[in-house]
Amino acid sequence: MYDEIPRYVRDAHRKGMLSMNHRSEEFVALCKKTVSLLKEKLGIPETYTILFTSSATECWEVIAQSLITKESLHLYNGSFGEKWYEYTKKLVPRATALPFDKERQPDLSKLPAKKYEIICVTHNETSNGTAISHATLAALRKKRPGALLIADATSSMAGVRIDFKLADVWFASVQKCFGLPAGLGIMVCSPRAVARIRKVNERAHYNSLPFMLDMMQQGQTSFTPNVLGIYLLMRVLKARKPIASIHKKLKSRMEEWHDFFKPSEKMKVYIRNNAVRSLTVMTITGSPEHLVHVKKAAKKKGFLLGEGYGMLKKDTFRIANFPAIKQKEIKALRLFLQKFT
Ligand SMILES: *Cc1c(COP(=O)(O)O)cnc(C)c1O
Repeated sequence: MYDEIPRYVRDAHRKGMLSMNHRSEEFVALCKKTVSLLKEKLGIPETYTILFTSSATECWEVIAQSLITKESLHLYNGSFGEKWYEYTKKLVPRATALPFDKERQPDLSKLPAKKYEIICVTHNETSNGTAISHATLAALRKKRPGALLIADATSSMAGVRIDFKLADVWFASVQKCFGLPAGLGIMVCSPRAVARIRKVNERAHYNSLPFMLDMMQQGQTSFTPNVLGIYLLMRVLKARKPIASIHKKLKSRMEEWHDFFKPSEKMKVYIRNNAVRSLTVMTITGSPEHLVHVKKAAKKKGFLLGEGYGMLKKDTFRIANFPAIKQKEIKALRLFLQKFT
């Protein structure tokens, strides 16, 4: 989290934000301002629509309810993509999985011949530290122009520069690259996605997408939202540099991390192919005995290393390269890890 958050919370309290009515003019103004800052600071096209949810997981479900009528295709190489597919399958039994090798971009020559209405990709797979490239998204768009492309950008949005035109729906939650406390999700929809939502017109849930679109047209939400979360998001965005400059910083920091682990005998970057490595999450692998030792010592020293995720729990740990992490924190972590290489 950014260090400024406690100050922003105090400001929110002082300004009466914490008891704000979400149907009030003040809320509408806050909502509109936050949407416009998101577009400005992240480079989201003016024509795209932004919606608020509670989490990225909720976005998985909302998409399955309101956008997928018959079937979806899920390209993934790790636990988050798989989980998204499994959640979808509960609501859409004909959801299809297309797992791919973690050391490669998905092989688009293997796409099934069937014309899927929706194709889902995990833009940044937080469980193993890989990312889908812009080139792959562009190629996917070209190969399947009729499909709506949906990208889970939970751990990349607000960290790396995203060409939003390359997909129709992008979503994220704020506790990763936005540097905010958890409890708010963001969904970004292209005009094509909005048209599709209108056409499907599913209205059986409190967060059915047509309902959310109707409310957002008035700068409101279909449920009582996390007003504090939206206020904090607005403040953080206001103070932030444009995404290109954040991207550049994360890229050079990640290169330093890779250089740091290069000479190490006992700890290696889990993903070997530099072309698929994420800029925001790095996964480190080593013998389970050594890693237990490192994780224990780290905890004692007050470092919060990311546990390995899912099947990789014992064989890896993860280091976040999120924008809110400071240079001096990274330095201290490197000094600590140096003893275990
Ligand atoms: C963290 C994460 C999620 C889950 O986010 P929640 O806000 O906890 O629902 C989903 N997908 C990816 C890629 C993630 O990194």
